[in-house]
Amino acid sequence: MRTIFMAVLFFSATLAGCVEDIAENHGVPGGLTLACLRNDVSALVIEIDYSKDNQPTSDSISTLKSRLASVCDKPGGITVSSTLTDFTHSGTWTADDVRTSGHATREAGPLAQSGVLRWHVIFPSGTYNDDSVLGVAVDASTIAIFQDSVDEAEGFLGRPSRDDVEEAVLVHEFGHLLGLVNLVYDSPSSHEDDGHKGHSNNEDSVMHWSIETIGINQFLTGDIPTDFDVDDRADLAGLADGSIPARDQIHAS
Ligand SMILES: [Zn+2]
Repeated sequence: MRTIFMAVLFFSATLAGCVEDIAENHGVPGGLTLACLRNDVSALVIEIDYSKDNQPTSDSISTLKSRLASVCDKPGGITVSSTLTDFTHSGTWTADDVRTSGHATREAGPLAQSGVLRWHVIFPSGTYNDDSVLGVAVDASTIAIFQDSVDEAEGFLGRPSRDDVEEAVLVHEFGHLLGLVNLVYDSPSSHEDDGHKGHSNNEDSVMHWSIETIGINQFLTGDIPTDFDVDDRADLAGLADGSIPARDQIHAS
């Protein structure tokens, strides 16, 4: 039985100051939440690059799209483009590796195209350097999901199944790109877990701390959440309407 690691899975790079050159500043998870929540940028493209045998399921993709559509105002639509990709990387992955390979394989940066926000998720082979980690959000627009570890996270008798875990982890990491929980704002409600910063204390939220670690199959059996809870949604609504101030936002130059 594996230990549940309490890793902090987002990386608050100290990129202080005004964001003039977005090519040089990739921001922190949550740094593009307003670009998603509001309609100033009218369309969202989710770019998926997967290595051989690591393609996400169509169920995961459709659930992700519907969760994002329920919180982000995108009159220009949300589209997903998936590409089989060779990451030319061997061994385990660090956060820096994810950033480097992510930026090298994406078609364009998050705000490179006027009117379009691009978020990028890679599904490489291999594991994170802490192999209890199923997924990571490493900057304002880049995520990795480690399918080899997702396979290991399947529960007893397939409850939860590896596909259930994949779906939950995918939505969870995009929740970090939306700034959940308290990554770029201070929630008026106390739903951040004291022992797991950046995560929810509600096991019925997809932002619960256990979702992105292999211990998910010991903590949550059977139905695992794939959606944001009322507190998560209230935070996102407050960010969208400005009643909750957002920090560290990247703007199109
Ligand atoms: Zn997380």
